[in-house]
Amino acid sequence: MLVKSRRATTGFIPAYLRLYESGELEQRVERAVALLESCTACPRDCRVNRLADKFAVCKTGRYAVVSSHFTHFGEEDCLRGWRGSGTIFFSGCNLRCVFCQNFDISWQVRGTVAPPSNLAAMMLELQEQGCHNINFVTPEHVVPQIVEALPLAVEAGLRLPIVYNTSAYDSMESLELLDGIVDIYMPDFKYWDSEMARKYSKAPDYPQVARRTIKEMHRQVGDLAMDDRGVARRGLLVRHLVMPGDIAGTREVARWIARELSPTTYLNVMAQYYPAGKVSRSEYTEINRRVLPSEYEKALDEAYRAGLKRLDSRRPSYNRVV
Ligand code: SF4
Repeated sequence: MLVKSRRATTGFIPAYLRLYESGELEQRVERAVALLESCTACPRDCRVNRLADKFAVCKTGRYAVVSSHFTHFGEEDCLRGWRGSGTIFFSGCNLRCVFCQNFDISWQVRGTVAPPSNLAAMMLELQEQGCHNINFVTPEHVVPQIVEALPLAVEAGLRLPIVYNTSAYDSMESLELLDGIVDIYMPDFKYWDSEMARKYSKAPDYPQVARRTIKEMHRQVGDLAMDDRGVARRGLLVRHLVMPGDIAGTREVARWIARELSPTTYLNVMAQYYPAGKVSRSEYTEINRRVLPSEYEKALDEAYRAGLKRLDSRRPSYNRVV
């Protein structure tokens, strides 16, 4: 049995509460679980029966696998605030990024199987610890399981905004399920070019999918809104990781965001790439280095030139860039 959460949040009504009160959330659970029978929870469309615990690319069957849940102080200031972001880090992934920094978690699915009641208990525990939000990391392949767990958590008192921290390699079915549940969408926009997406993440359709899903996320929640203390409450926050040799296509990504979403889209241009996973002196040698300060400055410049007005203000420490 779940322990009722005692911590109340003042003045904020999460999106999912309305769905819960109207009974719509329970209907979403039915649709979500049905999606697992012939899985199209992400654009891979594997159509395996995950209800029978079969799995495919994401290596995740009936239940989500959680690598860790903790209070995270490394996220953007508007998410971590002063009490941290309540992170639930899922194992398994539907992408195959050769430079993955969490190879053992994402590729080898290291973690603990978490049925709905366990997942709900984690959300409540993070709320009890005072976190500002529940931050689902690498959730693309476990949207049905998240939706299934949510009513249990809401019933026991969950009232924090939900952050959907995604690669943007999501299916439209999953985003329909999440409409009215997620308060803050935080997608990456990883690559502009499909050849780069094929080579480095085994997903040639990634750019096309990301353009479609990020647009839908923005339609659902709009530009990022914060409270009077600078903590994110609702909206879209896009992340873009600058890669060596501009394989991410920063200029095109920034122009697209300004043109197709809004010049006031909140964008974090990130410099923290480092070689990991399969990248080595013998494989993928062209990305076997950190991003140069000049490359990062150029990427920032591209974002400003595109007309974007809300760039995350935390900047990398260049003495860590080699
Ligand atoms: S979530 Fe995606 S990768 Fe996983 S089984 Fe379903 S369609 Fe395949």
